[in-house]
Amino acid sequence: MTRDPRHDILFEPVRIGPRVARNRFYQVPHCNGLGHRAPRALAAMRAAKAEGGWAVVCTEEVEVHPAAEVSPSIEGRIWSDADIPAHEGMVQAVQAHGALAGIELVFPTPRANHDSRLVPMGVRAGPVGSGGIDPWQARAMDADDLRDVRRWHRAAVGRAIRAGYDLVYVYAGHGLSLLQQFLSRATNDRSDAYGGSLANRSRLLREILSETLEEAAGRVAVAVRIAMAEPDIDDGLTREEIAEVVGMVAEAPDLWDFCMGSWERDSPTARLAPEGFQEAAIRGLKALTTKPVVGVGRFTSPDTMAAQVRGGLMDFVGAARPSIADPFLPRKIEAGEADRIRECIGCNICVASDNLAAPIRCTQNPTMGEEWRRRWHPERIAPRGSAARVLVVGGGPAGLEAARALGARGYEVALAEAGARPGGRAVREARLPGLSTWARVADWRLGEIARMGHVAVFPGSPMTAADVLDFGAAHVVVATGARWRRDGRGRRHPRGIAVAEGASVLTPDDLLDGAAPGGSVLIYDDEHYVMGSALAELLAGQGAAVTLVTPAPLVAAWTVHTLEQAAVERRLVGLGVRLRTRTALVRIDPGAAILRDEVTGAADSLPADAVVAVTARAPCDGLAAELQARRGEWADHGVAGVTVIGDALAPGTIAHAVFAGHLYARNLDTGAGADDLPFRRELPFPGEAG
Ligand code: ADP
Ligand code: SF4
Repeated sequence: MTRDPRHDILFEPVRIGPRVARNRFYQVPHCNGLGHRAPRALAAMRAAKAEGGWAVVCTEEVEVHPAAEVSPSIEGRIWSDADIPAHEGMVQAVQAHGALAGIELVFPTPRANHDSRLVPMGVRAGPVGSGGIDPWQARAMDADDLRDVRRWHRAAVGRAIRAGYDLVYVYAGHGLSLLQQFLSRATNDRSDAYGGSLANRSRLLREILSETLEEAAGRVAVAVRIAMAEPDIDDGLTREEIAEVVGMVAEAPDLWDFCMGSWERDSPTARLAPEGFQEAAIRGLKALTTKPVVGVGRFTSPDTMAAQVRGGLMDFVGAARPSIADPFLPRKIEAGEADRIRECIGCNICVASDNLAAPIRCTQNPTMGEEWRRRWHPERIAPRGSAARVLVVGGGPAGLEAARALGARGYEVALAEAGARPGGRAVREARLPGLSTWARVADWRLGEIARMGHVAVFPGSPMTAADVLDFGAAHVVVATGARWRRDGRGRRHPRGIAVAEGASVLTPDDLLDGAAPGGSVLIYDDEHYVMGSALAELLAGQGAAVTLVTPAPLVAAWTVHTLEQAAVERRLVGLGVRLRTRTALVRIDPGAAILRDEVTGAADSLPADAVVAVTARAPCDGLAAELQARRGEWADHGVAGVTVIGDALAPGTIAHAVFAGHLYARNLDTGAGADDLPFRRELPFPGEAG
């Protein structure tokens, strides 16, 4: 295939100060939960992107000094020379594939300093912030502190240069950076030379930028990453102020990287914002400078990317999540295979990993974070270990990924799906408001499978144990999924919820199958992820009077990790959905639900024509159980093994199911056993004290 000429513009080299980027694909800094804890894993993850064609590959935020560190999050560190070798590992891995390596240095806002235990300090005295509600405070920085911060930043620049980076950031974005807090009237109430006028509030940024340029001395490029506004905060940075700040130093850095004023605004899920959602914010900023500009927008369409460049919005197409979902996105466009891009679905499971201080994982890309420890390459996989045939039962995310990856290894695979269309929950849940991109999980896998002559998909094929045995494949993968429970069993009610005779209890599956209860509907969310709030949105849109009840202190509590919670709650309130938190559902009567306040224990009754129980899912394990019961017959039918994967084993997120399918495919015929450690670890000893 040859590249579509409309995309040629994306492959033009662009100069960044003393360096030249080979094309316009730019992996902006992104967190990943690997950071200083797993430098080898980090290097291999970034290297995969460089190999995949990104011209610039950046680190996550990298702390310049323990006086401000971001624990319990795990990000980068360049506190001392002892950190340099870990950075060299990443730099060399990235440069080996022809990409430029960038480092985002950060002195964060006053954080809790859980790790260093140094007294936090910030633009002003007050509670430490950024994500936590830790009950202690930061002190205001005095003139000596400001000199220290400048000195530490400059020293970190020197170390970054010695580590071999091509590009060094001055960072004033995402509400995370001290420099942004100095810029903003919302946080800066100082009365010294660093407070008051915008010239004063931008002084520290300008000083650090000029010292970074001095230290760089033309040896490496210098970038400024800056928030475009703070619309969510009283007295927050305005767009006009940012334009003025950019104007003050427009030609000083070698590159401008524009981001939003908070991570929530910069990385919204697809449920909250479409591809290209930052277009209105960035429009016009490029005119303020002749230096190249980077922008993001969860871009996965090369047409949209090319339009953004042609439209004069940006010189570099920035991406974090699209580069996570498909590290080889640029190479695929270059090869004229844009239809093979594994498109990000905008679910923010990757963000959740980082927020949980866990190694990054991705719904679409099961190899993310596994490049080093499991030696999984995003595009390459070992050839098959035998000529055995494999039967996969169930065409949801787990079954599809198992079939695809087995097919990539060269196995002959048959995938039997009971339903008329493969895709399982990814396709079903994509019908819910805002979740249409979730269908990409199935679409991409079916597209890849369609290219393989040796993987056959049979929709409309419900399989019994007899069917499976008669098929006679050596390996059987049971990926039959799960169904939502009707009995209310779940986290809060391990033994279920009492349902009186004649009461109407629906499950999410009923609604996904087309049930549309009207009147007053109570949704009981004891799952705390997307389903409860998405169904509330669906039913409210259909005219039902919806009350969402949850025993958790927050609506859709787990979506705090995916940066959605506040926006989802706001949306539900806007739709007229009534919300009851910290409330358990103890009995369902005909026409009414009996509730109990989780704090006081007080009971009350709420009229409800129907109750939707969003509590837990039960694995569809009937087929697996029957096959186990007939184990004695396997050998006669040539069946060597039956493996249950995905939701049929233990219901999880779609990311869990995709991972399970991939893991099965990677391990088949490799001799990997239950007693083996599943992956390599990065052990701290022997090592230098740093
Ligand atoms: P997972 O997330 O683990 O992939 P899903 O629930 O999304 O699980 O998908 C399971 C798929 O398995 C569904 O599409 C369902 O129709 C299919 N399925 C369940 N039982 C059978 C069966 N006995 N034969 C064929 N397909 C089945
Ligand atoms: Fe995109 Fe979801 Fe993967 Fe993150 S986890 S990169 S949002 S598909």
